Amino acid sequence: MTSKISTSKRIIKLVGKAIGDFSLVEDNDRILVALSGGKDSWSLLYSLLALEKRAPIHYEIRAVTIAPDPNTAYLKKMADRLDSDGIPYKFIFCDISSIVSKHLTKGTNPCSFCSRIRRGILYSFASSEGWNKIALGHHLDDFVETQLLNLFFNGSIKGMSPKLAADDGKNMIIRPLVYVREENTARMAEEMGLPVVDCGCIFQRTVDSKRLWVKQLLTNIEKEVPSVKNSILSSMGRVYNRHLLNFVKKTEDGH
Ligand code: SF4
Repeated sequence: MTSKISTSKRIIKLVGKAIGDFSLVEDNDRILVALSGGKDSWSLLYSLLALEKRAPIHYEIRAVTIAPDPNTAYLKKMADRLDSDGIPYKFIFCDISSIVSKHLTKGTNPCSFCSRIRRGILYSFASSEGWNKIALGHHLDDFVETQLLNLFFNGSIKGMSPKLAADDGKNMIIRPLVYVREENTARMAEEMGLPVVDCGCIFQRTVDSKRLWVKQLLTNIEKEVPSVKNSILSSMGRVYNRHLLNFVKKTEDGH
C-alpha cells in the first residue's frame, strides 16, 4: 500500500469521525454535495460516497455544480468523471461572476458576495427538489482561519459550524471536512486522479488580504507550535462561558 492511498483512507476516516461526532448524516438523508470542481469538494464527494457504501444507514447523494453556461469548458471533464463512476449530478447554470461584477460594492469581498449568491441558489434548488442537507467542502484550515478572522477583526468569538441550520429554516448545511487539513485534500485529489478544474473566474486572483495575513500568521506559528491548528479547532468545542464576558445587559448587537 502506498502512502498516497493511506491519505485518502485517512480522509475518509476523518469524515466518518466528523459524521459521528456531530451527527451530520442520518438515515434517509438526501444530501446535495456542492461540487465546485476544486480539490476540496471532490474529496468531500468521494469520501461521502465511500462511507455510504459501508454505512449501516441509507443516504442519497447528488453532486451539484453551478457554472456560467452549458459551454463552460471544465464541465466536460467533470461530467466525464461523474458519468464514469455513475455518480448522479446536476449542473445549474448561472453566471455568478457577472452578477458579482455588476453589483459589487466598495469594500465587499467578491468571493464572500459570490458565496452568498451561490448559497441562495443551492438552498432554493435543495428545497424545490426535496434535498434536506447541503454538504460544503470547508476544511479544518477554513474553520481555524475563520475563527481567527472574527477574533482579530470582528471582535467576536464566532467560527464555522460543522452543522448549521440555514436562516430560512428549511436547509441544513453540513461540513464533513472539519477534521481534514487542506494539504491532504490536494493529495487525495491527486491520488484518485480527480479532475480538479479551474473555474476561470476573473476574481480568482483577488487577494483577501486579511485571510492571507491570517494564513501566513498560522504558517509562522506552526513552525514553533505544530499542533496550533488542531488546538484552535479543539477550542471551538471547549467554550467556558463562565470565564468569558457575561454582560448583565445585552450589548448593542444583541449578544
Ligand atoms: S473566485 Fe470567483 S467563483 Fe470563486 S468564490 Fe471568488 S467570485 Fe466566486
